[in-house]
Formats: sequence, structure tokens, C-alpha cells
Amino acid sequence: MAVRKIALACSVCGSRNYTITENKNRTTRLEVNKFCKHCGKYTIHKETR
Ligand SMILES: [Zn+2]
Repeated sequence: MAVRKIALACSVCGSRNYTITENKNRTTRLEVNKFCKHCGKYTIHKETR
């Protein structure tokens, strides 16, 4: 049973601030509003491959 790790990168500065694990099949790309310490504010974070 494989568990994939996905990095969430800030869409503004590109920093990979968060990593999540995923074990379900998905078809849509993940977008989460999270706090970026580099930008100093909440930004959209997108998954990277
Ligand atoms: Zn940022």
C-alpha cells in the first residue's frame, strides 16, 4: 500500500512550506489557502510533483 507524499508550494514565492500524505486517488489538483512565512501572509498553496 503506497502512500504518496505531496509538497504544497506557495503560489506567490514558490516555497514548499507544507507536505501532506495522500492515499486516495484524485483527479483534481490540490489548492489550499495556507500561511506562508516567506510572504508573511496567507496565500494559495498548490501541490507539486
Ligand atoms: Zn510565499
